[in-house]
Amino acid sequence: MVNYKDLGLVNTRDMFAKAIKGGYAIPAFNFNNMEQLQAIVKAAVETKSPVILQVSKGARNYANQTLLRYMAEGAVEYAKELGCEKPEIVLHLDHGDSFELCKSCVDMGFSSVMIDGSHLPYEENVALTKKVVEYAHQFDVTVEGELGVLAGVEDEVSAEHHTYTNPEEVIDFATRTGCDSLAISIGTSHGAYKFKPEQCHVDPATGRLVPPPLAFDVLDAVMEKLPGFHIVLHGSSSVPQEYVDMINQYGGKLEAAIGIPEDELRKAAKSAVCKINIDSDSRLAMTAAVRKVFAEKPAEFDPRKYLGPARDEMEKLYKHKILNVLGSDNKLSC
Ligand SMILES: [Zn+2]
Repeated sequence: MVNYKDLGLVNTRDMFAKAIKGGYAIPAFNFNNMEQLQAIVKAAVETKSPVILQVSKGARNYANQTLLRYMAEGAVEYAKELGCEKPEIVLHLDHGDSFELCKSCVDMGFSSVMIDGSHLPYEENVALTKKVVEYAHQFDVTVEGELGVLAGVEDEVSAEHHTYTNPEEVIDFATRTGCDSLAISIGTSHGAYKFKPEQCHVDPATGRLVPPPLAFDVLDAVMEKLPGFHIVLHGSSSVPQEYVDMINQYGGKLEAAIGIPEDELRKAAKSAVCKINIDSDSRLAMTAAVRKVFAEKPAEFDPRKYLGPARDEMEKLYKHKILNVLGSDNKLSC
C-alpha cells in the first residue's frame, strides 16, 4: 500500500473548491510517456498552475503501473527542481471501469480515481460508484463519477449518440454515491473526430467547420440544483487546425477532424466546471512535430531529435491551454 501523500501528490478537493470560487478550471492532461510528462510539469510550473496527470487503463497497460507511479513521484520532484516548492499535482485514473482497477490505483499511490459506470443502468452506476467512494475515501482519495454518455470512443466504453446528462439525476447521484466530482455530458466527446461535417456549419470568415454549441442549459440546471458541486468535462480537445494542417502537410491523413471551440471551453471554465480533460490535442501536437522532422530530415534517426521538438510543441500547447483557455495560471505560491 502506497499513500499518495508520501509521494508529494494532492487530491482534487481543495483544488476544485478554489477553482469554482476563482472561476477557472484545472487542466487534466493524459500522459503515458516521459516527454509528455516533462512537458506537462514544465508548463504547469512556468505558469504556476495546479495540474492533474491522468492515466487511462490503456495508458497503464502501455506504460506499466509501477513505472507510472514512480513517474508521478518524479514529476513532483522535477517541479521542485524547476523552482516550485509546493507544486499541486494530482495523479488521477481516467475512466476506471471496475472497482478492482480503482482499488488497485488507490493502493498504488493515485490521489484521485474516476469510476465510469455511465454505460450501466442507473442503479448499477450508483452502486458501483458508491462502492469505489467508500473504499477511496478511507485514504482521502477523491472520486469522479460519470453520468450521461459521451459520443466518441472512450477507453473501453463507446456510445453511438450523445445522451445529455439529466440534471434531475445529478443531485440524486451525487447524494447517494458521495462522489467528489461528476463528469457530465453536455455535447463534448472523445477523440479528434467529435462531430460529423453534416452536424456543423461553415464559418463564412474562415471557411472552417463550426460544431453545434455545448448544452449550457444543462450545465446551468445542474448548477442551480447543486450549487458548488464539482463538474468535469471530458473530451474537451479543440483539435487545433494548425496541427491538423501540419500533419496532413507532412504526409498524414486526418480528414475533417473537429473539436470543441476554445471560446466555449473558456465559458465552461468560468462555471462549475472545475476540471477539463485534454488528450487529443497533445497527441496532435506530438504527431505534427514528429512528422515535420521526419519529412524535413529523412536521415535523422536519433529519437531525441524528433521527440525533443515534439516535447517542445506539447509544452507550448499545455501553456496555451492554461493561460488562454482554462485560466488556472498564477494559482500556486511558488
Ligand atoms: Zn473521458
